[in-house]
Amino acid sequence: MNAPAETRKFEAEVAQVLHLVTHSLYSHKEIFLRELISNASDACDKLRFESIAKPELLAGDGELRIDVSWDPDARTITVRDNGVGMSRDEVVANIGTIASSGTRRFLEAMSAEQKTDARLIGQFGVGFYSAFVVADRVTVLSRRADLPASEGVKWESDGKGEYSLEQVDLAERGTAVILHLKADEDEFLKPWTLKSLITRYSDHVAFPIRLPLEKDGKPGDEWETVNAASALWTKPKSEISDEDYQSFYKSLGHDFNDALAWTHNRVEGSQSFTTLLYIPAQPPFDLMMGGRDERKGLKLYIKRVFIMDAAEELLPNYLRFVRGVVDADDLPLNVSREILQQNRQLERIKAACVKRVLDLIEKLARDEPEKFTTFYKAFGNTLKEGIAEDATNRERIAKLLRFASTKGEGSAQSVSFDDYIGRMAVGQDTIWYITADSHAAAIGSPQLEAFKAKGIEVLLMSDRIDEWMLGSLNEYAGKKLKNVAKGELALDEADKKQQEEASKAAEPLLKKLKELLGDRVSDVRVSARLTDSPSCLALSDYEMAPHLARLLREAGHDMPESKPTLEINPQHTLLKRVEAEADLGKAGDLANLLLEQAEIAAGAPLPDPAAFVQRMNRVLLG
Ligand code: ADP
Ligand code: MG
Repeated sequence: MNAPAETRKFEAEVAQVLHLVTHSLYSHKEIFLRELISNASDACDKLRFESIAKPELLAGDGELRIDVSWDPDARTITVRDNGVGMSRDEVVANIGTIASSGTRRFLEAMSAEQKTDARLIGQFGVGFYSAFVVADRVTVLSRRADLPASEGVKWESDGKGEYSLEQVDLAERGTAVILHLKADEDEFLKPWTLKSLITRYSDHVAFPIRLPLEKDGKPGDEWETVNAASALWTKPKSEISDEDYQSFYKSLGHDFNDALAWTHNRVEGSQSFTTLLYIPAQPPFDLMMGGRDERKGLKLYIKRVFIMDAAEELLPNYLRFVRGVVDADDLPLNVSREILQQNRQLERIKAACVKRVLDLIEKLARDEPEKFTTFYKAFGNTLKEGIAEDATNRERIAKLLRFASTKGEGSAQSVSFDDYIGRMAVGQDTIWYITADSHAAAIGSPQLEAFKAKGIEVLLMSDRIDEWMLGSLNEYAGKKLKNVAKGELALDEADKKQQEEASKAAEPLLKKLKELLGDRVSDVRVSARLTDSPSCLALSDYEMAPHLARLLREAGHDMPESKPTLEINPQHTLLKRVEAEADLGKAGDLANLLLEQAEIAAGAPLPDPAAFVQRMNRVLLG
């Protein structure tokens, strides 16, 4: 029975996407062709894959291809493929709604920040809608390869909020997208324009893209293949130009810009495979915010047949920014995702991919510092996840990390562990670092004072992931990594002795402070960290930095309350005042303020801000 013709409303998000796409892509309007061809190519890939199990799907029309045509009278452009096609339900699900959560997040961010950056759009699977940048009406005719001719679907919309859906007879399987061009888009009706766009953006699509030869100003009956139509990665490197690599990168989708770098390798042997892996020049929009379930862009081929998007199976999470293809010769063509996940051969391919990517990043660090800086800005924090995730390559990854430092240039993340070790003083066996909320909080931290006084370098870590990463990195190249805020710090024997003496001398003061602060602190002791400031917090070796504990608590995690250890500098005038103050009320104000300023400097929350303000005012009015 025929489903009735009907008109439906787009899902609210689709209407929004349409609006954004048509308004912000205007300066790149020609990309609609690449997007439609890329969908057609995906559809051919899918059919080729399905036909492995069901060869009859290809019956009568075994040569998969994409035909682009124009009609000067009707003012239309048609992109037709003989790929897998769509059923009625699939048309509704794929182009009437936006299924992916990534698109939704993208929308939220776009409307929140009014940041209609065209480059972002291609990364979110909203490619089809780019048709409405140049067309005021789009017709889709589609029939799924495994359905009869009578179950074709006609979808049509002006992109304004509604679409119509109708069952039609379609003799051929696959999909035709017909663009009814807007009044001022006539340039796309010229075969020359279409041809140059195809060779520019879609040359390396693996299926033939054909255009009719022009006859008397109209498309004739003869067709010409206009793209290279070969799998780029199968060619020898010497025959591939940088432009070829870049144009192939863009044909993978999800980025309009050039790739930063790539690595192309063929492994021959008991197990043969080819990898072509790219590092983008900027992060996709959702990389950091839960981009984990949106991993696209690494395609698995087996003997040139596209099998699936398999980023998760082929690369660890911390390299999720990598794009490209892996073509394996020896995997069974009928693999499923479940089989892949336990496949030993795939494990080896995965290890090889990781090695290639790390090799490439090392090469950038060594030979192309500017590119490395670009890379590190975009993906440094993602790479850091590898310290915890990839124990095998931990040392290699650690070598690639860069930090701000008390001996670096401003807040630039440019100092490596090796740089640090190269500058260590004789006898120094520890790599010192501090973690904080921001670079300013790190560099201004009182805990650094003794280090500055002694000229000892401290790495300044202010990315959220740093503290977490350091949980998996206790040493590098045989040197211990230590937080300057942790434990009792005595940098050398002379220090130790001096501190013991100072502690002894300060005993009455320490006792007084402990009484005044009561259960706000777990301990008060003389600090070896301070030279200028009156006080700071110290952490036990296993305690989390206060700024991080605060973040986690704010994010809803149950964090155990721990009382801080207060360290003081008995030489400081404020401490002398506490010591001399006979009025216990006044001494109490001073003691609490000493604790509170240490808490503020460490990024810890003030338990009672109002009380703090009152105390401060009492002292100010003195
Ligand atoms: P993406 O290609 O990133 O998934 P698009 O907006 O370009 O996003 O396409 C949306 C979906 O519509 C595709 O995932 C696919 O399921 C379907 N689709 C689009 N064009 C075709 C086509 N020519 N043949 C079959 N399915 C298609
Ligand atoms: Mg697409």
